[in-house]
Amino acid sequence: MKEKMDREAIEYGILCFLEGLGLDVTNDQHLKKTPQRVAKAWIETFASGYQFTDEDIKQMLSVEFKDNYDSMVVVKDIPFVSHCAHHLVQFSGTAKIGYVPKGKIVGLSKLARVLDVFAHRLQVQESLTEQVAETLNKHIGPEGVGVVLTGTHMCMTSRGVKKPGSIMITSCLLGKMRSDKAMRAEFLNF
Ligand SMILES: [Zn+2]
Repeated sequence: MKEKMDREAIEYGILCFLEGLGLDVTNDQHLKKTPQRVAKAWIETFASGYQFTDEDIKQMLSVEFKDNYDSMVVVKDIPFVSHCAHHLVQFSGTAKIGYVPKGKIVGLSKLARVLDVFAHRLQVQESLTEQVAETLNKHIGPEGVGVVLTGTHMCMTSRGVKKPGSIMITSCLLGKMRSDKAMRAEFLNF
């Protein structure tokens, strides 16, 4: 774990942002403590994923079960909340994560934790999908891994083109999950 965040800089940045909007931060009872609240929320949650190094994630995935089970493991409907790197607004949705073990099985909650580590960074959905898949591939060493994210983006639904209800689906398939047709179909149809 590393603490490289500068709380004061974040608070000052939010203060400037609010003042830039023309707001009277000092005298508005609801805004007075907003810079501190926002900094706390980003450090502790929204951007907390930056505090995990690759080594931390490796550790997270290291409590393993040695097993000869070699059929597909799929967890779906795992909720995630992330923030888009382009507008700093939320995008959220659900993930389906699956892998075909090669001697190593990890607890199901670990898959959700890895998703959270990357979701709690500034992201675009495509990269989030790839980062989760590549990290699981690297640290579990499975026959194949697949990640599908279904997300709703506030920057799409409430600004710009304003398309409420539109969803974005991204997928990343690695190893046999990509090359083996039957395996791929099994995962995608789950
Ligand atoms: Zn955006």
